Amino acid sequence: MDVQALIAGGGIGGLAAALACARAGWDVRLYERAPEFTEVGAGVQLGPNVVKVLHGWDLADALAGVAAFPDRLEVRSATTGQTLGNLRLGNLMQQRYGAPYATVHRADLHGLLLSAVEQVGVQLKLKHSLSQFSQNPQAVTVQSQDDPPVEGDVLVGADGLWSPVRQWLLGDGPPRTTGHLAYRAMLRQADLPQALRSSQITAWLGPRLHLVQYPVRGGDWLNVVGIVEGQAQDDSDNWDQGTDGAGLHAALAGSCTPLQDLVRAVPAWRLWALCDRPPMQGAYQHALGRVALLGDAAHPMRPYLAQGAGMAIEDAAELGRVLAQALDPALDVPIMLNRYALNRWQRNARVQARAIRNGQIFHASGVGRWGRDVSMKLLGERLLDLPWLYGGP
Ligand SMILES: Cc1cc2nc3c(=O)[nH]c(=O)nc-3n(C[C@H](O)[C@H](O)[C@H](O)COP(=O)(O)OP(=O)(O)OC[C@H]3O[C@@H](n4cnc5c(N)ncnc54)[C@H](O)[C@@H]3O)c2cc1C
Repeated sequence: MDVQALIAGGGIGGLAAALACARAGWDVRLYERAPEFTEVGAGVQLGPNVVKVLHGWDLADALAGVAAFPDRLEVRSATTGQTLGNLRLGNLMQQRYGAPYATVHRADLHGLLLSAVEQVGVQLKLKHSLSQFSQNPQAVTVQSQDDPPVEGDVLVGADGLWSPVRQWLLGDGPPRTTGHLAYRAMLRQADLPQALRSSQITAWLGPRLHLVQYPVRGGDWLNVVGIVEGQAQDDSDNWDQGTDGAGLHAALAGSCTPLQDLVRAVPAWRLWALCDRPPMQGAYQHALGRVALLGDAAHPMRPYLAQGAGMAIEDAAELGRVLAQALDPALDVPIMLNRYALNRWQRNARVQARAIRNGQIFHASGVGRWGRDVSMKLLGERLLDLPWLYGGP
């Protein structure tokens, strides 16, 4: 088939889109501005809705080789250490949703997607920062630096939080700062005292903060992310800075001993200022003509539902599905992208909104905190399990 998909961005979303489009029979060219493909040293949780997509792309073995599959999510009070609620993962997720709940190092997930796109013949263009875009009813054109312009039938903007494709398409300005900071660290479990090693996901909730820990790399490493409320010292575009974690230590001063022990065991942190956009307002924010937005370019979200990369992967699966259905691929692109947008925007908006709400619940104090803890005790798993999300789109 002589149809060309151009993809801006080689993160998890861009690679997933490249794979889905290539599997749909499209010729794919992916542009990444960085000189090499890299991912930050941090973990990512993948709900069964996302693992199911990866399995559908024949990546089950590759994922099983690098991920951990925790059997439980435990929610604990950061102040007292008391267990507030539990969600069984493992077999329960498999039985209920047809796939397990996985936790994985981002570089491992990125690496398995990269080798899959290489196998299906996607052309990868590193050190190509796309900066000029135009479209007409017949084609979309992109250009990077001094290279000649390149034409394609579809352009996928998978170029992340600060997406230039989005600005060209929607012109709605930069994302907003959330006033939340993320401290992230990765620890080798063998270097930790026995009491701090863990094979489950634990979320510690405290006033104006929370911390999540989970295993990655087959359980050999522990990923830790602590979120506190506050502003970064310099501009939020510089979103990955080394730090000794003094701000996190100060915020956790009144917390329970096991949590303090864990945080003290971390020698160095990376600091992120978290940004997002308000939940999507309509399909027009997902695609226009021959251009589709995908992942953080379309719907950057707070990480409190652990589904940002997951929604990028779901977007990619839907994009591949609609593009495979085009009867006259070159001609039908705008109709197909409109279908993609209609099928995706409400779910993405719901996940964005729920992530914001989760942040408020996680960080509650006073009466709100009391209500949260009581509800979690009474409803337990019923509150933590999310069939609308984990059951897939
Ligand atoms: C603290 C934290 C925890 C998280 N935890 C989870 C989790 O547990 N589960 C989950 O699913 N998600 C999680 N997320 C969200 C997830 O990380 C993101 O949603 C996801 O990585 C977005 O992927 P993306 O490919 O859309 O964007 P990005 O990863 O930002 O990739 C965009 C790519 O585009 C490239 N690019 C930009 N401009 C251009 C250009 N002009 N030309 C060419 N290339 C360009 C960039 O270099 C980059 O490689 C978390 C996020 C944070 C901050």
